[in-house]
Amino acid sequence: MKGSACRHAACNCQPPRRAGQAVVFLLLTLTALVFVLLFNVDLHRVIQRKNQTQNAGDAAALAAARWQGASLNLAGELNLMHVLALAAQNPAAVDAITNMQARLCFTGPMTALFASQIAAKNNQMYVDEAMTAFLREHAETVRVRYAASFDGSLFFNEPWPGAWGQYADMLTRIADAGIAAGPDNAQFFIDPSYGHPLMEKAFYEAIEGANWCWFHLYRRGLLEEYESFRYWPPLPDVDPGAYSDSEIFGLGLRPVELPIKNLFAADALAESLRGAGFTADAAMLNVTNVMDAHEIWYVYDPGVWSAWSRIRPDGEDSFPVTGQVRPEYDKAGADAVLRVNAAVERVTPGMESRGQVVWTAAAKPFGYLDSDSGKQRADAAAGFVLPAFRNVRLIPVDAASGSENSSSDVEWVRHVRSHLRPYLELGPRSAACRYCQALAVWEKAAFRQEGSEWLSQNSHLCRIPAGGGSRRGGGTRRGH
Ligand SMILES: [Zn+2]
Repeated sequence: MKGSACRHAACNCQPPRRAGQAVVFLLLTLTALVFVLLFNVDLHRVIQRKNQTQNAGDAAALAAARWQGASLNLAGELNLMHVLALAAQNPAAVDAITNMQARLCFTGPMTALFASQIAAKNNQMYVDEAMTAFLREHAETVRVRYAASFDGSLFFNEPWPGAWGQYADMLTRIADAGIAAGPDNAQFFIDPSYGHPLMEKAFYEAIEGANWCWFHLYRRGLLEEYESFRYWPPLPDVDPGAYSDSEIFGLGLRPVELPIKNLFAADALAESLRGAGFTADAAMLNVTNVMDAHEIWYVYDPGVWSAWSRIRPDGEDSFPVTGQVRPEYDKAGADAVLRVNAAVERVTPGMESRGQVVWTAAAKPFGYLDSDSGKQRADAAAGFVLPAFRNVRLIPVDAASGSENSSSDVEWVRHVRSHLRPYLELGPRSAACRYCQALAVWEKAAFRQEGSEWLSQNSHLCRIPAGGGSRRGGGTRRGH
């Protein structure tokens, strides 16, 4: 009321200015309105795209995990068929089964990778050129380097004759169809547990965010001790591991050669056969050509199928788990982590014209063995693989194996592979690379000084972050 009275008084005195003011006012209002509208359009687009990326990432991870579970079940059924082939004294069938298991450890994960691409594309994700090129490059590395470096002693054996060429072909074919969801826990990329700070993504993120607490909690003394790039220890030489299992979405199985009586009594084995739908009795199995024969059996690799270290109330990262994890789920193991990137075009002037939405999701197959004492973990039968997998679940990204490798963050992988050695020789390089920019900031003494001073006053405020939201999405990561 008061406002309208004032305006009224003003119009009586100065009619001409009133019109001019109104036009200016109207224009300003319109301009503001247009910005508000455009901004809302942007906001809507960003939210919609974010939802799409989350759905696509989750769907891709679940699809991959489903095929991992199916492959594990197949490996288990082949173990049991192996028993039957031995009982029937059919050595040709035994050889064929063992050979098929060796191949399954690669073809199963490749099916998982391919299925995850379809799931991502069905959820409006487009082919990511950088991730596609990266996978194609890796296929060439396998084809040329893995095969060439095999001389019977160096590096690793082929799991079956011609394996590396066939594995490379599968990778190439999947890359040819275009990668929309990148495998983020692939084992061919450097494991940050080598312990070199320059290989830890969290180090760069701490610099970018001036997160001094990270230094206090994880690299105490570094801010004070550091003088120049000459300070860093040399980078470790990273050999490819020895693979009996795919480096991408591996099943975590390994062949062991031993008599099956070391794993089972005959009646327990007969029970497993019946559980899987094969008819067999213990008397048939309890003959020396089955129980005593030294054969190749597929078992869970205990290095992969280990206890959860992170999903437990008292785990190293105090993951927010309430209550007890059910016994049949209380095991880490084969899992899939997928990364999806989506671009958002902005229309509001003055805003960055292109935004990136990134989502990382993890899933794993779960199963259990039924026994008289209730549900038991899938590997409860002395590690022997049996068909046990029944469902898949999303799991926190931090809890997934190898998720800290970020093997589909192409910028990160290129930084570690191609930029670190020149940096150690010559110091920070000017580059478009985000991580090189962080190193340039790190080299400034004033920057590190600021951190030391802040910590000398405030280090008591630093807390190890609990799980929860993360600006990168898809769960948390250590060191945040
Ligand atoms: Zn770089």
